[in-house]
Amino acid sequence: MKHLTSKLLLGSAIALMASTTAVAHGTDMSERLATIKTMFDADSVVAGPEVVDCTLSGGTETQCFSITLKNSLAADEMGPWCPGNISDTADEGGIWVRDGTQYDVDGAFIENLATFYDDPEWQLFDEDTGKVHVTDTRAACDQAARPDVAEEYNNYCVECRTEYMEEVVETTYVLPLVPVARQDEATGRTPGTPGPRGIAFNGVRFDAAAPQDAILAAHTLAPFDDCGGHVNLHVGYHYHGANGCSPKQEKAEADAPMIGFAMDGYPILAKLTGDDAEKAELDACSGHVAVGIGYHYHGNSAEKNEILGCFKGEIGCALDSPDAVCKADERPAGGPPESGPEGQKPHDEA
Ligand SMILES: [Zn+2]
Ligand SMILES: [Zn+2]
Repeated sequence: MKHLTSKLLLGSAIALMASTTAVAHGTDMSERLATIKTMFDADSVVAGPEVVDCTLSGGTETQCFSITLKNSLAADEMGPWCPGNISDTADEGGIWVRDGTQYDVDGAFIENLATFYDDPEWQLFDEDTGKVHVTDTRAACDQAARPDVAEEYNNYCVECRTEYMEEVVETTYVLPLVPVARQDEATGRTPGTPGPRGIAFNGVRFDAAAPQDAILAAHTLAPFDDCGGHVNLHVGYHYHGANGCSPKQEKAEADAPMIGFAMDGYPILAKLTGDDAEKAELDACSGHVAVGIGYHYHGNSAEKNEILGCFKGEIGCALDSPDAVCKADERPAGGPPESGPEGQKPHDEA
């Protein structure tokens, strides 16, 4: 039965049929929920999973699982982001991405920014001492990581830390138990959906692309750590891609280990490399269909800035409260614009 349950999670056509039955049978459903729960690090699960009614982004009324998660990483499992001095090595900094390529943010990278971006205004360090301008207080991180970067925080390496946050963010994710393919064609980036793209098994969200244009316009960098993650004060630590750090669930029937769920309920598997990647013929959303497990994604690494190019299915919700009802079709058309370095928190994070 355990094996069957695993297959259901992977959202195959078989799962579609089987789970319709499961909805009617409490025992199957509770086993399935128990399996979902075991996939997540116990420390990251605040509540759930439980079955709830939900309305997906395309208007489909269905059943979802609701799980409330928090980031379960310790402070020393995140970072580093900004090197302290231009003499620092790659071990003392994180990464930055440009046009699909990942770069180590070491001291030399900081020193070379004016050349790298062909813009003499870049000056992220003290010319006398080599000290890098880093936002090393809560106030500094708050003022540097907003749409209108305070003038005095132009030319800063921006990093925020979870210890600056008054409380650990708890988010309730409401995702379809059976994914529903979108009726409109999914191509390229998913515009107007600034919310999360998915969830990792350590409770960390895979977020929408970092708004690099706004970040760079203020001559700031907001490096990711080597895992593809960084902190903002609204959602805490989040990933902009899967660099292989988050927990994996091995699946015998899959072509890679599973690393999380996308907001449309389809599984996210680890990135494919080499021949496997070529043969996979992934679509614009980084997904494909395979025998046995059906449609699934292979998450992009952080070099693409975003784990998925788009959603294949109708998405559920990320909510502030476990009691809120997921009506993903009621978001304002297109959702709030992606604004500023790490933007403001959208009013309705569908
Ligand atoms: Zn971010
Ligand atoms: Zn695959």
